[in-house]
Amino acid sequence: MPRPRKQATAADAVFEPRITRGQKRLAKEREDKITNGRNKQSKKSKQLCAEHNDHPEDTVNKTKRSNSKTKVIKKEQKTKVIKKENTTGVTQRTVKKGKENPVKVRKEQSSISSKSEKLVANEGIVKVKKEGAVKGEVTEMAGFLAKGGKFVGAHTSAAGGLWNAVSDAVEIKARAFALFLKSQRQWNAKPLEEDVITKFQSALKEHGFHPDFILPHGSYLLNCGSPKAETLQKSRDALLDEVQRCQRLGLNRYNFHPGSTCGEISVEKCLDLIGESINGVLEKTSGVTVVVENMSCQGNTVGGKFEELKGIIDRVNDKSRIGVCLDTCHAFAAGFDLSTADGYKKMMDDFEEIVGFEYLKGVHLNDSKGKVGCHLDRHENIGKGFIGLEGFRRVMNDPRFEQVPLILETPPGLTDAEEIDLLYAMID
Ligand SMILES: [Zn+2]
Ligand SMILES: [Zn+2]
Repeated sequence: MPRPRKQATAADAVFEPRITRGQKRLAKEREDKITNGRNKQSKKSKQLCAEHNDHPEDTVNKTKRSNSKTKVIKKEQKTKVIKKENTTGVTQRTVKKGKENPVKVRKEQSSISSKSEKLVANEGIVKVKKEGAVKGEVTEMAGFLAKGGKFVGAHTSAAGGLWNAVSDAVEIKARAFALFLKSQRQWNAKPLEEDVITKFQSALKEHGFHPDFILPHGSYLLNCGSPKAETLQKSRDALLDEVQRCQRLGLNRYNFHPGSTCGEISVEKCLDLIGESINGVLEKTSGVTVVVENMSCQGNTVGGKFEELKGIIDRVNDKSRIGVCLDTCHAFAAGFDLSTADGYKKMMDDFEEIVGFEYLKGVHLNDSKGKVGCHLDRHENIGKGFIGLEGFRRVMNDPRFEQVPLILETPPGLTDAEEIDLLYAMID
């Protein structure tokens, strides 16, 4: 069965995007449709308890990958990549002429695109080694220059098989990626099969992705601080299952949204429950760091304040296996004005003082549709929201964000490939 494909992720689109007016209109229509849908959804969700810690922006990401109509992307006049929606609504890609292997495409591009030479140097291995940017084995991935020690990538689609997330990442020239390990909106999933593990691991090896730069995202159903006994137990079982999947896949970190009080218990009590949940899972697993994400202070979610993240860390017994993922959109919505130098400094100083950069295990790079302090979790494309390009320029030039996965979770206005290119171009 064909797996859903993201929109324009052919490697050529990175360096010389040729987007037709028709494509732009389609993208706009999709975005409008999504925005309208989201507005309706958020009205509805206001009436509900925020128990499930919903994250509407990733619905957008999902839609972005499966909702596209026909697209044609030209690759140097040689390759046509045609995406068509089939009857099940799953997009299908057919490659006419040219080569399908994204790595080969990438190599061709690196030799013909002058812009690409800035980012994908042929002598990448030397430069990467010099910058100490790649940990562990240097493989094909070293052909990518992780410029400035920054590992930028995106949330990729694992539809059809976890290994597909790796090829998606390769196509968009990601140096890091995130993925769901199972359906993010269902409690139950079939067990992870050995041959899936083998395929996933060999794809990682083939393309040179080190586990340090892969940040799996947990299910949205989890509320490991739920006041409801049944939900709490289900969340703990699901958390254990997902961390065990990471362990079996050879991954070393797992990111999830901490939880919600549902307005029924105190934040402190909620943090106690989250801490107990994490401790229970850490005792039964090994080698995987549990990474809690800062939230936007929307509804009853916890983790919007750095003090709350610190509160979770304090409650976890094994400090070597707890970490934090910093989401720029969430931080902005929670009140840090990343659009200004002062606001950026304030966030970074507070993070260092309250949490500590030694706990930073990942970053979500998202601009914000909402204004500073709005408490709304609404992601926007890089530079198109209220954080703006300057905010991300600060991130891309800050050594404190080296050697961690920097993951885009943005809507379809720009492709992930375009945004990755844009971000790398910001490095001085
Ligand atoms: Zn996020
Ligand atoms: Zn979000």
